[in-house]
Amino acid sequence: MKVISTVKEIRIQLRNLSFSPVGLVPTMGALHEGHLSLVRNATDECGIVVVSIYVNPTQFNDKEDLRKYPRTLEADLSLLKNTLRDNDIVYTPSDSEMYPVEDKRVFHFGNLDRVMEALYRPGHFNGVAQVVSKLFEIVTPDIAYFGLKDLQQVAVIKELIRQNKYKVTIKGNPIIREADGLAMSSRNRLLDPEIRKKVPVIFRTISEASGMIISKDIPEIKKFVKETIEKDGNLQVEYFEIVDDHMLNPVRNRSEMKVNNHYYGCIAVRAGNIRLIDNIEFPLR
Ligand code: AMP
Repeated sequence: MKVISTVKEIRIQLRNLSFSPVGLVPTMGALHEGHLSLVRNATDECGIVVVSIYVNPTQFNDKEDLRKYPRTLEADLSLLKNTLRDNDIVYTPSDSEMYPVEDKRVFHFGNLDRVMEALYRPGHFNGVAQVVSKLFEIVTPDIAYFGLKDLQQVAVIKELIRQNKYKVTIKGNPIIREADGLAMSSRNRLLDPEIRKKVPVIFRTISEASGMIISKDIPEIKKFVKETIEKDGNLQVEYFEIVDDHMLNPVRNRSEMKVNNHYYGCIAVRAGNIRLIDNIEFPLR
């Protein structure tokens, strides 16, 4: 694999190497099996793969979160060395390479700006759209790989593509979990060891809740999720919503749900001072 940190060099490489399709896997590093599953799918399906590693400051609404975000470039590169092929590229731009001038673009995503992550992390998706649109323009991928752990992000990216007419196909990959069910995340390594033992309750609870949708109404299920998780005083549910998989509209009552649609239960939990998100399908049959 080649490690490249400038736009100029990446353009030269992609022009000279005529492999296709071109796959892009955007990441913020501190790589784990969740990221590697995206990379493996990309190498299975693409002639050349670009994995970007960039902690994008514009998507952090919380300065402290940005400061403590894990940065483990050496370890990331050794993991990628075992997964990527000779011609694949790891793109590790600096802030000045990514943002030579301040990015003042403002994106609008309709309903997606008004629910869940958008409410609790103001500006987050605007920053995501800034960095992802730049990556799309630098790499011009045919296929871009994202994880369904960030379900709302996938919906936002699809909307970004629709609005800007980017010629890229999005693939959403299933959530990869630890053996105890915790969704893998770069932030997991920041969890206090005592709290780490408690957080599997998040996936356990939303899994149990997903089975309740046949017999119980939504307010009751939401109450169950909040109360079960918050039994541990260190865990606080920011939101738990059952949403349709398209515009992520929260459903208030069981009667609003249609058997042919897909629904997901999406949750954000404050675990000590670390914020975790997860989701699971709520199948109606
Ligand atoms: P991040 O480095 O957190 O920005 O994540 C980079 C990409 O990896 C995003 O598309 C995430 O949705 C995806 N990802 C992160 N964690 C997981 C996971 N546990 N399973 C599947 N995909 C993941």
